[in-house]
Amino acid sequence: MTRVKDYIFHILLLHSLRSRIFIIILLVGIIPGIMMRHAIIEDYEDRAVRLRQETAQDMLTTIAGHLVTNNYLENYQQTDQQTAANKRVVDAELDMLSGIYDGRILIINSNFSIIKDTYGLNEGKTIISEEVILSFRGERLFNYDAQNGYIELTTPIVYTISPEDNPNENVNIVRGVMVTSISSKNITETMELLNRQSLIIEMIVIMAIVALAIVLSYVLTRPFNKVTEAINEVKEGYSDEAINVPDYVETVHIIDAFNQLLRSKRALDDSRQEFVANVSHELKTPMASMKVLADSLLTQENVPVEYYREFLGDIVSEIDRENQIITDLLAIVKMDKRVQDMNIVSISINDLTELILKRLRPLARKMDVEVIFESNRTVVAEVDEVKLTLVISNLVENAIKYNKEHGWVKVVLDADYQFFTLEVSDSGIGIPEDSLAQIYERFYRVDKSHSREIGGTGLGLAITKSAVLMHRGSITVTSKEGEGTTFLVKIPINYIAPQNA
Ligand code: ADP
Repeated sequence: MTRVKDYIFHILLLHSLRSRIFIIILLVGIIPGIMMRHAIIEDYEDRAVRLRQETAQDMLTTIAGHLVTNNYLENYQQTDQQTAANKRVVDAELDMLSGIYDGRILIINSNFSIIKDTYGLNEGKTIISEEVILSFRGERLFNYDAQNGYIELTTPIVYTISPEDNPNENVNIVRGVMVTSISSKNITETMELLNRQSLIIEMIVIMAIVALAIVLSYVLTRPFNKVTEAINEVKEGYSDEAINVPDYVETVHIIDAFNQLLRSKRALDDSRQEFVANVSHELKTPMASMKVLADSLLTQENVPVEYYREFLGDIVSEIDRENQIITDLLAIVKMDKRVQDMNIVSISINDLTELILKRLRPLARKMDVEVIFESNRTVVAEVDEVKLTLVISNLVENAIKYNKEHGWVKVVLDADYQFFTLEVSDSGIGIPEDSLAQIYERFYRVDKSHSREIGGTGLGLAITKSAVLMHRGSITVTSKEGEGTTFLVKIPINYIAPQNA
């Protein structure tokens, strides 16, 4: 239930790819449609108003001509028959025009007096507006009032006369103005109709786009769901095959990374299994020897005491060996526990090395090996004392154990401002080149029987390497068979705690 809630929450916050694709398709599909509808309707309005204005203007210009030829402005108060008849004709034209355009025409003379109002309401009144004044200067004016639904046109009534002093030249004089308001209601009505129809079409398109957005957002994100399903299958143990979702380059990258992870997990599992098998084998070997020794004592009768002594002595050394393996295994387990276990103290590496060498000198004497320590400076560093002790003692012990008669072991301690180095070289049997890469593996021994003879478990260098790495240091080896081996350990003087510790 909470998963469903989380899912909805993420969709609402656009945290899901599907919701983002959905929204993008929706916006890309719908916004241009709405914009286009507005643009088309506005364009229609512009054109319709212009067309109406132009045709009305043409008619008004013609009527203005009739007004001039009939001297309408001068004769509007004359009552003789001929003038009245002319006036009636023009009046009829004006009425017809205002009828056609569902509008009103006012004729204003040069005294700004309204001499004709097709509505008959304002005749005789004076009108002085900006438009009228501008029109008396010869301008044709046009104003569209969309809110109230009318177009206002102001047309000058122009007389062309020839002045007495220059009869060849024609002069235009504005003697009156026609102010015409025509209704634009039908334009508004057509616009509303258009709007309604396009809205219906738009709704249908929006519904189609929503459907498309739902389908596409589902289809486009499906490969990612396939990735999750495939990973879940591996996670839940139904399959441990390498998975494959080739739909997108992105899914291929994710799957590649996952497969790599899977491979390294398998490699880790394999190495764990191998380790457990090795441990069991190593622990069983001393046990088997002890059993053989004990059995041979038990199955024989009247065994002389010397045999008992000898066999029990062998059993004791097998127990020692078993103990040694267990001690080393515990050390390895400790190393695996990682950084939290680091017990960092600032100590003199010189003193620590001297102490370890002192402990190992009896062994060196026994093996007839000379141990030399060289150090030009006092090195104080932040280290885990127990772990560094394991490093130094393992390396020096190996250098003594895998040496020759009258051989030597040299330990050189040095430092710069960042690192200290510990070089352990010997005049021993050396390590074959093809074994150099494996010596840090658990239970790896170059010569199993020789190593066993001198009490090796094959775990020493594995422990050493882990301990060095935990100090963020490095360990390298150079060796020549029959001539000797040199291990070089480099560790930071100041302990660098890992970021995620
Ligand atoms: P072991 O307990 O057998 O000594 P290590 O892990 O310490 O195990 O060493 C692994 C193997 O590397 C040893 O068995 C040995 O063959 C080889 N080795 C280690 N140090 C030296 C050395 N200084 N000289 C020659 N061989 C060495």
